[in-house]
Amino acid sequence: MINIKKRINLFFYTYPRLCLLLIILLAVLLLFFLLNNYSHQQKNPSMVEPTIHLYRHESNTVSQMKFEDYVLGCMIAEMPLSFELEALKAQAICARTYAFRKLLDKKNYPCGADLSDNIMECQAFMVWEDYYDKHPHVSKDLIKRAQKAVQDTRGIIILYQQEPIDAVYHSCCGGKTESAFNSWGRDTAYLQSVSCSYCQSSCYYTSSYSFPNTRITGLVGKSEPWLQLSIIKKTASGRTVELEINGQRISGNEFRHKLGLPSNYFELKVGATKTNIYCRGYGHGVGLCQFGANGMAKSGKDAQAILRHYYGKIDFYKLPY
Ligand SMILES: [Zn+2]
Repeated sequence: MINIKKRINLFFYTYPRLCLLLIILLAVLLLFFLLNNYSHQQKNPSMVEPTIHLYRHESNTVSQMKFEDYVLGCMIAEMPLSFELEALKAQAICARTYAFRKLLDKKNYPCGADLSDNIMECQAFMVWEDYYDKHPHVSKDLIKRAQKAVQDTRGIIILYQQEPIDAVYHSCCGGKTESAFNSWGRDTAYLQSVSCSYCQSSCYYTSSYSFPNTRITGLVGKSEPWLQLSIIKKTASGRTVELEINGQRISGNEFRHKLGLPSNYFELKVGATKTNIYCRGYGHGVGLCQFGANGMAKSGKDAQAILRHYYGKIDFYKLPY
């Protein structure tokens, strides 16, 4: 039995001190937690997922949506859903980076929109309803995989020297991508020409076309019954910069677009009455090669390895939402 002196001692002396100690300990822990949380927030400020306004050029309207829904709509419009998951993830990261850079630059699209679905000024976009109309037999598995590609890369963008890159891409390079300098006159460290041996499954890897010689002379407004056609300048990757038709010069891009060729990466064979053109690839050839991305994914490469192959020494950053 505890005597009365000890009980008084415990009640008036020991318990209050223990309580005070406990309160001080809790206060210190609380302070530590708050400071830690504050410094974490300073380093990683939280951000609400942006809501964007997208200009729909066919209907001349503006749609409002969450940024990640927009990324999914770009992915389903820009890449076949039958592609490998890692290729879809690479495409999602490209589409997100490409758009985020435009948001930061505050591009001014029609109707005051943040982005546009016109590929002449931005990137393509599609809602699921339109996708189902175009692909009525698409499987649920492919739809889930497309959604997974965007969810798994949520918020991830590509940086070069702390800035979001101009993440341009094209369908098939035909064996070698083109540099931004050769294509558009803009020397860009992460848009250099790289070899690509992964896009041979594209039907445009090589393709050939035949035109009457009179069609070729007509491109420069000539009507002679003969054709003298030659490529006079090529880029290091082999794409045509300039040609000469019966003594008149025309750029490789103009020649391509006027004849509806898939790229300006071609060889010519002029015959007595017709000209054969042997093309490689589809698109401008700069940045990510989509069929190449799929080929790399098939060989076991993940999305980041695929993107590093085409864009070089890049970094990845997760937008904090
Ligand atoms: Zn390629």
